[in-house]
Amino acid sequence: MASGTKRDYYEVLGVQRSATPEEIKKAFRRLAREYHPDVNKDPGAEAKFKEINEAYEVLSDSQKRTMYDRFGHSMPGGGGAGYDPFGGADPFSTIFDAFFGGGMAGGGRTQRTGPQRGADLRYNLRISFEEAIFGCEKEIEFRRLETCPSCSGSGAEPGTDPVRCPKCGGSGEIRQRAPIFNMVTVTTCDACGGTGHVIPIPCRTCSGEGRVRQSRSIPVKIPAGVDSNSQIRISGEGEAGPRGGPHGNLYVALDVEPHRYFLRDGNDIILELKLNMAQAALGDELTVPTVDGEEPLKIPAGTQTGQTFRLRGKGVPFLRQNGRGDQVVIARVMVPTKLSDHQRKLLQELSKTLEGAAPGGERDDSFFGRIKDALGI
Ligand SMILES: [Zn+2]
Ligand SMILES: [Zn+2]
Repeated sequence: MASGTKRDYYEVLGVQRSATPEEIKKAFRRLAREYHPDVNKDPGAEAKFKEINEAYEVLSDSQKRTMYDRFGHSMPGGGGAGYDPFGGADPFSTIFDAFFGGGMAGGGRTQRTGPQRGADLRYNLRISFEEAIFGCEKEIEFRRLETCPSCSGSGAEPGTDPVRCPKCGGSGEIRQRAPIFNMVTVTTCDACGGTGHVIPIPCRTCSGEGRVRQSRSIPVKIPAGVDSNSQIRISGEGEAGPRGGPHGNLYVALDVEPHRYFLRDGNDIILELKLNMAQAALGDELTVPTVDGEEPLKIPAGTQTGQTFRLRGKGVPFLRQNGRGDQVVIARVMVPTKLSDHQRKLLQELSKTLEGAAPGGERDDSFFGRIKDALGI
């Protein structure tokens, strides 16, 4: 590759000397597509492809382009054999050796980092009170980015391959040596975004993104004992990473519907039990609802408002453990607000025989204790 035989870079790309970076990029893409060795099997295509890349590599970089405009192929920094971004010792090792697997100028550089993991996703799932207690399996449907099936995430049209970035030689970094102070600055390559690859012919399915958004449906197992704000992590069900990178995780955030008469308190289930005055005074044998169905409950004579009864093991299962909480039944004695004549007479008779109606009697600490218990204070 003697510089005397080289064609003018603008001529190679078929653009005016005043072409904008956008026009240069467009021309490069069109020509790269036409002459890519995977697509074009003409004997001269590979050489032409190299020439196109070399021209683009210089003209796409404003600094190198300025140098080229001033000095032509004899531009400083090894322009005669392709600009060497590493300032390597060997002026004849062209960037295209690196490009086509001949090793990289500068030597000793390892490849950039591996594929990036995809983003995590969050799915809000509302479940019933009973589903939270006993667990369930739900089918959820959501959209996520999947690795493009056409290009397997490479972003390159099937039958073509991404090529090493001509600007950074595949390192993903641009090293620039300041001419006077001999300082080297390293920046992420803007041509390839630091990936070290560029795609001459973008995949038609994903427009070169390497990922497509698709709808997906999976079963989610909700363990017994979850509550609102519980989160279930399903690894690998998040979005696919760019360029075939692994999937992120899916987090299913649970929201439990309130129940008509049960109230959840951690692993206990609270039920309010309304009693009439006579039941409370005389005691009764009743059945109360639990999440397992009706259960018998014996109310002793003299039951007071706020008194609690525990049904052991009828509460919420401990999450991923054996055992269950309790159901706590809280008595509430209802004082009638409407009385028939007959009821009034009976109560008047009864009242004459009862004591304790006077205000300001001695403080009953057991009463306050029960209220505190019932209120959880
Ligand atoms: Zn694709
Ligand atoms: Zn690059």
